[in-house]
Amino acid sequence: MDFMYYGDILIVDLEAGTTEEVEIDEAWRAGPVLPAALELFRRHAQDNPLLLGSGILTGTTAPASCLGFVLGASQITGGPAVAPLDMFAGAEMKLSGFSMVLIKGNSPDPVYLWLHDGVADLVDASPITGKDTWRTCDAIREEMGEQLIQVVSIGPAGEAKSDLASFSINYWGSGDNAALGALMGAKNLKAVALRGLGMIDAEDPEEFYNRTMDLLRGSPSKKGFDWVSRGPEDEGIDAWLKPLAHRHRSCFACPCACNTFVKYNEDPAVMGSDGVQEPGLMVTNPAAALWLRQGGWGAEGACRAMEAMTRAGIDAVRGAREMSTGPLEDPTEIAAAVEALTGSAGAAWPRGEGAGSGIFGPRTPPQGSEDRWLEVNRAAYVLGICPLFLVTSGVELSELLELCLPAAGVEVDAGGIKEMFDRARA
Ligand code: SF4
Repeated sequence: MDFMYYGDILIVDLEAGTTEEVEIDEAWRAGPVLPAALELFRRHAQDNPLLLGSGILTGTTAPASCLGFVLGASQITGGPAVAPLDMFAGAEMKLSGFSMVLIKGNSPDPVYLWLHDGVADLVDASPITGKDTWRTCDAIREEMGEQLIQVVSIGPAGEAKSDLASFSINYWGSGDNAALGALMGAKNLKAVALRGLGMIDAEDPEEFYNRTMDLLRGSPSKKGFDWVSRGPEDEGIDAWLKPLAHRHRSCFACPCACNTFVKYNEDPAVMGSDGVQEPGLMVTNPAAALWLRQGGWGAEGACRAMEAMTRAGIDAVRGAREMSTGPLEDPTEIAAAVEALTGSAGAAWPRGEGAGSGIFGPRTPPQGSEDRWLEVNRAAYVLGICPLFLVTSGVELSELLELCLPAAGVEVDAGGIKEMFDRARA
């Protein structure tokens, strides 16, 4: 594999229980990025594939280079849909030893896929079937003896193939609003666990490093959700969460930290980690909090509801919309309300309310016009740079595109990215 990728494409046949490595098509000079995955998706459509991969700059010193992708057919739209593989999972995918993974068919028995240092194993998942995403993450990390494993898993909602199902990343919700969690459930695929210590080489390492450091120095370092909000209707989300806020956390290589860890089972001021075992939740999706706040929920009840949805493997944004009309405070009532959602067949994303464009769902909160969001998402997934960072940081897209030459020896521009997607659809 050329610069910026490590390893070949892995094809996993769940029905046969086999894995095979194949080289990427020479025609894809930019590497195994999302448009290449879309073409593979089309070629293997009869096997209902699920693909995981990353962008050119994912896992590097480029700012906000956290983004990988999960691609599969959405049972909501009937077409291909993409969900972000962010936090630290996109970078771990890049370093796993496989440049892209295509998972085809359905397994006769529950399994999880364990990718580590160029080795792919299908592991019996029957002991963790029925577990929520938190316990699934714990069990896989314990079984493999490594706490840094990134676990992309489904909970009971995914196993029930609910339209509300969403995969989780470790203990936190993901941007899967297309029910790719239900696709994992249909495949009998409980999780994909990722760990790698691979090396990524740049075409011109010194030039690449210096340029990325310049960009990082020029990037904002903001915290919380207010700075990525869409406008006045979203204002005050940080103030609403503040009584519970413990810390802010960024995704891989991001100079900003919009993810907000809240504590409601312990005083948020407590800094030590030897107190309550599960003190709260990392709020990774402000749109879910916004739906609940608009419905009159208090911050604590809303955070408990988001935790319950994340554990069940429910898309917190669409779940919050379902629950927003009935503010609850009692933890038992909240748990029951979320459990009632788990098998829900309803609640597709409301069209016309940030519906996103084509394969890209409403990674929230969408910024600007739908055309702009589409353009940003195309570039984000090819580059492997968070789209929220792209639209809010003030860093010019052209400066990030120019990194592709010292990184991978390829010239990429906005027109070229559009052509890649057009070609993938042809
Ligand atoms: S802007 Fe927020 S969501 Fe995007 S990479 Fe940074 S911390 Fe993560």
